[in-house]
This record gives sequence, C-alpha cells and structure tokens, in this order.
Amino acid sequence: MINSINGKRFRAYTVLFAMALFFIIFSSINAQGPSDNNAAQRDVINQVSLLQGLTFGDYNGSIPAARLKELGDTGIGTFDALNGELIMLEGIVYRAAFDGTIEVVADEETIPFSNVTFFDIDEKFQISGIDNVNALKDMLDKKVSQTGDNRFYMVKIEGVFNTMQVRSELPQTKPYKPLAVVLETDQTFFDYENIAGTVVGLYCPAYMSDLNAVGWHFHFISDDRQSGGHVLNLSAEDIDVSLDRSDYFAMVLPDNEMFNNFDLTIDQSEDIKKVETGED
Ligand SMILES: [Zn+2]
Repeated sequence: MINSINGKRFRAYTVLFAMALFFIIFSSINAQGPSDNNAAQRDVINQVSLLQGLTFGDYNGSIPAARLKELGDTGIGTFDALNGELIMLEGIVYRAAFDGTIEVVADEETIPFSNVTFFDIDEKFQISGIDNVNALKDMLDKKVSQTGDNRFYMVKIEGVFNTMQVRSELPQTKPYKPLAVVLETDQTFFDYENIAGTVVGLYCPAYMSDLNAVGWHFHFISDDRQSGGHVLNLSAEDIDVSLDRSDYFAMVLPDNEMFNNFDLTIDQSEDIKKVETGED
C-alpha cells in the first residue's frame, strides 16, 4: 500500500518534471529561433553579380540602391554605366564620381556589382606605421589568419591618412568595352595628404577567384564627405580597424542578355589584377 502510494507520487513527479523540461526546452527554442535568424541575416556578405561580369563589360545595373540597402549597411561596388565607385557606410550609398567628388546616390539608381553586409564588429584594434597599401594588407592578413583565411571579412579603417591615392572612372556609353580597356583611357586619379576618413574593405578567400578579387579591396571616403574612390595606395601613422567576420555568402545574379551570354570559363585573373591595382 505504502509502496503503491510512493510509486504513484514518483510517477506524478516524473510527469511534472518531464513537462517542465519540455516547457523549458520549447520556450528556449522559441526564444532563440528568431534572433538566430536575425543574426544569420546580418552575418552575410551579399554580392551583386561577379567581378568577372564587370571586367567583361557588363555595366548594366541590376538592382536599385534601395534594394542594396536591404542587403547591408556597409560595402563597396560601382554603378550602372560604371558611373563612379560605390561606398556604403552606415546605410548611406555614396558615389565617388569621375572627378573625385562625393555624392549621396538616389534610391532608384541601379548597381551592376557590389559587396555589402550589415556591419557588426567582431574585433577592434589599432595598427601603426603603414607605409603603403601592401603593408596594410600584410597586417590585415596576419589578423585574418588568426580567425580563418577561408572566411569573409568586411573591414572599416578609420583615421588620418598621411597619403591617400584613389581612382574613379568616367561613366561609359554602350556598347561597353571591357573594364581593363576602359581603365586605360577613362581612369581618373586623385592624391590627398593628411586626409581624415574611412576605408571600407572586403576580404575574399582564395576559393572566390572565379567570382571576385581574392584578398583585399578597399574604397575610401573622407570624413567631410567631399572626396573618395577606389584605393590604389595609402599610408598612415595610426589607424583604427574594425573587423566584421562573416560566416555566410550570398549572390544576386543579374538578369540581362549580356550577362547571360558571357563565357565565364575564360580566365580573367590578369585583367582582375590590372583592374584592382591600376597596374599593368
Ligand atoms: Zn574598387
């Protein structure tokens, strides 16, 4: 009799315990679900088209600036007809135009190529004594090696730059020429000294060589929002670096005839190098 009562009590407690456990697990899944989703959405490097499409001469904008802002708040790229260098900072899309000046871009303007993400700082540090852009790349490479060469990174570099050499390019008319050809004649260069501003940079891992430029790609905008462009060289004493590591990558493919008919099996690595560094 006593045993039977104890047995019933035991079963009742077991059922209660199981219900409580189920409730705790279920509510924690519920609580984590949406926030995990949100974190994943923010942790994506979104890419519009392939850099290789751009180097072939596909300057046809495929998504409007308004849509790009839904994919990130920080990034780099270019505009329809290759109308200047794109830099996105704190959710604002800027153009560094062919004359080196900066303007805020209208939501309707379309974009043929870009990389953006929602910038969440994973690591912040200071680096000093940067003599040129390759020294900066080396220092950042060392940092990246600690957390993984095969991940994506967006970087924000803030400070006063002793020297800053940027380029932009003249807007193009159809039929579009390949980018390497355009840059031979229509590239514009600007040199600044002691200029305060932000460099936004993207790091692509080696396996991205058919989709983008491997390694670092930097764009610059001055604090006074007057000057900027694609960074060719720079130097600085002390700069603040914020690093955002991304575990997801997504692409938006353009839907136009030019893109659809490219032979993307052709190796363009030499052209990509020329386009990125401004060197032959
Ligand atoms: Zn660029």
